[in-house]
Amino acid sequence: MAIILFKNPLLVTMNPRREVFRGDLLVQEDRIVEINRTGQSKSTKKIDRTIDASRWLMLPGFIQTHIHLCQTLFRNQAEDLPLLDWLRRRIWPFEAAHHAESMRASARLGIAELLAGGTTTILDMGSVHHYDVVFEELEKWGLRAAGGKCMIDTGAGVPPGLLEKTAGSLQESQRLYQIWHGAANGRLRYAFAPRFSLSCTEPLLREVGTMARDLGCMIHTHAAETAAEEEGLLQEKKYRSIDFFREMGIAGEHCCFAHGVQVNAREIAALAQDRTGITHCPSSNAKLASGMAPILQLRQAGVRLGLGADGAACNNRLDIFAEMRLAGFLQKLQHGVTALPAQAIVEMATIDGARCLNWEAEIGSLEIGKKADLAAINLDAPHAYPLNRENIYAQIVYAAKSSDVCLTMIDGRIFYESGEVGNMDVKATLAAAEMEWKKLLHRAQITG
Ligand SMILES: [Zn+2]
Repeated sequence: MAIILFKNPLLVTMNPRREVFRGDLLVQEDRIVEINRTGQSKSTKKIDRTIDASRWLMLPGFIQTHIHLCQTLFRNQAEDLPLLDWLRRRIWPFEAAHHAESMRASARLGIAELLAGGTTTILDMGSVHHYDVVFEELEKWGLRAAGGKCMIDTGAGVPPGLLEKTAGSLQESQRLYQIWHGAANGRLRYAFAPRFSLSCTEPLLREVGTMARDLGCMIHTHAAETAAEEEGLLQEKKYRSIDFFREMGIAGEHCCFAHGVQVNAREIAALAQDRTGITHCPSSNAKLASGMAPILQLRQAGVRLGLGADGAACNNRLDIFAEMRLAGFLQKLQHGVTALPAQAIVEMATIDGARCLNWEAEIGSLEIGKKADLAAINLDAPHAYPLNRENIYAQIVYAAKSSDVCLTMIDGRIFYESGEVGNMDVKATLAAAEMEWKKLLHRAQITG
């Protein structure tokens, strides 16, 4: 691996002092080894490549703490349905029709989009089958990820192809953990991924709670997403979803729940006390009309918060810039213009996302010794002028676009630069996605 010098970018460090300055950033192997204010570099290292970054803003690579790479192939194919119908009539039949090659096409398409938009780390929930393929693609194209196969052992409307035996679901998760946890220079981690409260039995969830603690890995699930889910669970189990997961032993700083739209004040206090993370998915929540998550209250209570695009089937993008912008707008509409400062939103998309993944010692900020996971934004565009250094976070949240990303580095390696996604033939990736989607649709035989 090479020594790369980024010369004179505007560095938005997200370090504990939240410093923003012009400087030089030196990467050696997989780490940031020097950060100097402009003109102060004393390095005598032999540099393999110097990149003139004087027109760029550089910040830690974006972290999205809720993604479904398995659903990228379903983009534009599941419109205008509320969550439970969207799942039962479209997404689950599509997922059940996945083969290894359609899963590969789906993951690759999603990875290409994420890398081109400056995302360097994801927390991914897979489908029931073929999660090895997703890890293979993550390994190959460079994204950092925690993820796992989703677990489904009960529930109304689940197609036979997705319904698992409890023991089989646990065994397959453990098998994947053994192969992939810590793989690719520590870039890949396993996360247990029970789908959501209505699709998992109590024995499954209790065992997941125990196993994750024993193995030291994360649990990722959906919780409190819609009112219908909360009502269904109340009828079936006499619990609301946050209480239910707590009762099953699924709570704590190794847990990250997507959505949290429906949480009440008591549940917010419990999430804060347990240190359970919540991923805010504003586009998904808006498009499925699930509601607006009480981000201000969650934040005031000290709940750890990340941001995520969810899947392309309900968004229909995997674009962190779109999520940041909408997150800001929604809180302003609900609580007034000062509700959620742009800096707090960039924190959710970087250092706070890293905290949700318990990965903050390695990623989430530009600091010496941390992993070289970086995103560069080109500032030389009409919509970026005039720059306001005093509120650079507003520039990132409200003016910048994912198409402004000009370079993405992970583990010290460049995986996106000037339109090229590493060694990927993007045209071939798009063609494969089109072909695999047609074959999958034929297998799924969706009607109405
Ligand atoms: Zn989701």
